[in-house]
Parts: sequence; structure tokens; C-alpha cells
Amino acid sequence: MLKPQKLVMIPGPTPVVRSIQDQMGRETVAFGDPDFIEDFKNVVKDLRELWQCSGQTFVIAGSGTLAMEMAVANVSKPGDKALVCSNGFFGDRFAEICKKRGLNIDVIKARWGSSVTSEEVKERLSKEKYDLVTVTHVETSTGVMAPIGEIGKVVQDHGAIFVVDGVAASGGAEEYVDPMGIDVLISCSQKAFGVAPGLALLWASKKALDKRKSLGTIVDSYMDFEKWLPVMEDPSKYWGTPPINLIWALKQSLEIIKSEGIKERYARHVRHATLFDEAISSMGFSILADEGYRAPTLSVYLYPGEFNIDDSKFRSLVAEEGAYIAGCLGDYAGKGFRMGHMGNIDKHILISAVASIERAAMRSGIKLEPGKALGILQRGFVEESM
Ligand code: PMP
Repeated sequence: MLKPQKLVMIPGPTPVVRSIQDQMGRETVAFGDPDFIEDFKNVVKDLRELWQCSGQTFVIAGSGTLAMEMAVANVSKPGDKALVCSNGFFGDRFAEICKKRGLNIDVIKARWGSSVTSEEVKERLSKEKYDLVTVTHVETSTGVMAPIGEIGKVVQDHGAIFVVDGVAASGGAEEYVDPMGIDVLISCSQKAFGVAPGLALLWASKKALDKRKSLGTIVDSYMDFEKWLPVMEDPSKYWGTPPINLIWALKQSLEIIKSEGIKERYARHVRHATLFDEAISSMGFSILADEGYRAPTLSVYLYPGEFNIDDSKFRSLVAEEGAYIAGCLGDYAGKGFRMGHMGNIDKHILISAVASIERAAMRSGIKLEPGKALGILQRGFVEESM
């Protein structure tokens, strides 16, 4: 049997389009190459401008977790008080990182599927002085998007440093550094940027950069803002070897974002996530995230109870039908699947992804009307282009 192409529909890495792949396949040059230096300069400039950051952007080799740790390393010292807002697995990871770095932490934990609210943060901050507040913009374990703009306002009024994990959001969900009161935004390349894994991205506000300066010498070297600042201001300088091909790939991703228009990109993610959720729900799956908090970048779908679905068998069938999806985490493991719908994915990919789920659902014994879910997408796509 002819094997179908397998779409990477997990919540990252996401499908990498040919023009971005081509940048990774280019012959690597010296990091002192004047053309590369110019490209690196433009990447840093575009990230600052598109995310409206008057501080600095950092682009270094690493994954999202490195960026999380780097954020904490540069704006806190052992003994500082941190408030971690956790909506799930990756919020808890922030708590662990802060704790291991000697911070004194309090955690506000939301029920999985819901979000910590600005009112809850305000209440905590009114009772105690915090140096740092962390929030996960889109929680990958639940598909919940936190109201970071509202929380940012509360944190800025309090005077703490506001750290946002944008790993599963940046480039797909609205996110502006200065206007939202974010002090350190962290992200990475493999999600809504549609680049292969390997780049850690950080945006630091002027307040965060001042905070770093006030700390003096820190124990970290690779993660130190002060070591990287000269490089980000002038990429002909050296601290650690830049991942040249990935930086080219990110440059191409930013070209795609600029040519689509960042506002339209955010709006497209919202439109397509709504359609995607509606299509998958029409087959009997339910959405874990509460209405009003659903992320435009990824969703968690729970199996319809009445069909006794074997999770790993279902996901293998979806893979056989042409799409990789991810299992659920925590208490939801075995009860559903996680799926990305972010980045540079067009109508063909969305249709094929839903079609793979539909065929696997039918093969699993779920009673459904073939084509109904696809009809929802088709009608939606036609309506949006009228
Ligand atoms: N934060 C969030 C919200 C994530 O989804 C992930 C990865 N899925 C991370 C942090 C960690 O990123 P990485 O796996 O690239 O280290």
C-alpha cells in the first residue's frame, strides 16, 4: 500500500514549509560573513519591531526550556519572591525552574482547562510583595490561553517583573511586549514560527535589562543577557557560535509573517482554530479548554465517552491515515489527544488533518457522518474568502 505523507500536527514542531527548509539546507558560511551578519541584524530588528519591544531581543541556540531558565536567571536572584501562575504542565515547569534557582515561590494553580485570571493575581499581589510573576501564554497541556494583557497591567501596577512563556503562542496568538506590560517574553522556533527546533528566543523590556544590570555578576555564562547584549546589538561580535542556518530559517519565517501581515496572521489563527474546533467537535470529541480561554494555536480534544477509545491505538490509526497527533498529559493521559493548528499551515493541511482524524475515528468505531467535519471547514474557508 502506498504510505501517505505524515503531517506533523502535534503542538510543535509544526510543518516546515519548503522555503524555510531551503534555508536550513544552504551551505553554512562563517559567522563573520558580512551577508550573514546583515541577515542576523535584520532578524533581531524584525523580532523587536513585530513584537513592539523597545528593549532587546535575544536569538540563541537552544529550546524553549533554555529560554524559560534564561528569563529567570537574568531577572532574579536566590531568595527573591516569585508568583507562578500555572494553567498546567508547562506552568508547573516554571515553578520547578524558579524553585531550583533558589527563589521563594507561591503558585496559583488553575483547574486544567481553565486559566488563572487577573483578579486572582491582583488579590495575591495585594497581600504580598513579589519580585517576579510568571504566566504561560498558551498552555500546551490544555489548549488554554491566559489573559496576559490583563495580568500584565496588574503586575506592572505592582512593580514586579512580568515573565511570559510564549512558546506555544508567539507568531500565532496576539502578543506585544511593551503594550502588554511584558518584561521578558520567551519563545522558540518550532511552533508558530514554523522553523525546525533549535532556537531559543527572548524579548526583554528596558525594565528587565535594568534589572539584569542591577544583579551585577551572575553565575550563568551562556544564559547571561550581558554576554549576549553586545552580539544582539552588533552580530559581528562573538559570545557563542550562532546557529547560522536556523537564523536564516527564522529570517524566512519572518518574511512570511511580514508578507502575510502579523495582524492578519493572528486573525487567521483565530478563524481557523474556531473552524478546526467546530469540525473536530462535530465528530463527537469535546474540547478541554473552557470557552473564552481557547488558544488559537492548539487544542486538546477528549474522546467521546460512549465508544471506549483506546488512546494509543487511535493515535496510531491517525498516523496511519497521515497525521501525527500527541497524547494528553497529566490526568488527561489516555483520555484524548493534543493537536496543533498553528504556523504556516494552509487550507490543504487543515483539510487533510481533519480528514485523517475522521478516517481514524470511523476505523475506531465512532459513529459519525462522513464528510460532515470537512464540510464545516470547506464552508468556513469559502465564507472567509467572500
Ligand atoms: N513552554 C511551553 C508552553 C511549551 O509548550 C513547551 C514545549 N512544548 C516548552 C515550554 C518547552 O519548550 P522546549 O520543549 O522547546 O524546551
